[in-house]
Amino acid sequence: MVHYSCDLCGRSLSNNRFIVKLEVVPAPGNGDLTEADLDTDHLQQVAELLDELDLSDTVPDLDEFSTQLKQFDLCSECRRTFLKNPLGRGPHRRFKFSGN
Ligand SMILES: [Zn+2]
Repeated sequence: MVHYSCDLCGRSLSNNRFIVKLEVVPAPGNGDLTEADLDTDHLQQVAELLDELDLSDTVPDLDEFSTQLKQFDLCSECRRTFLKNPLGRGPHRRFKFSGN
């Protein structure tokens, strides 16, 4: 049996598991991508550039133009919290800016 726990508070989940699916996609027109950018020569240039930089340890930052799918498990309480403030913005942050 697969055991789930809440990705926010860590509480173990049995019957009250909620799944949050986040999909981050680039808006149409992002970066003014043209047909020329999709040309194989361009991709070849990028490949050569990456070769030159020798980024063996780093992941190339090409994910910007791809769809990112994230999935989280939440308990009912965290589900409520999440729905109120999905991006964690606003006055409910845990930290406060000091007046200095
Ligand atoms: Zn929770």
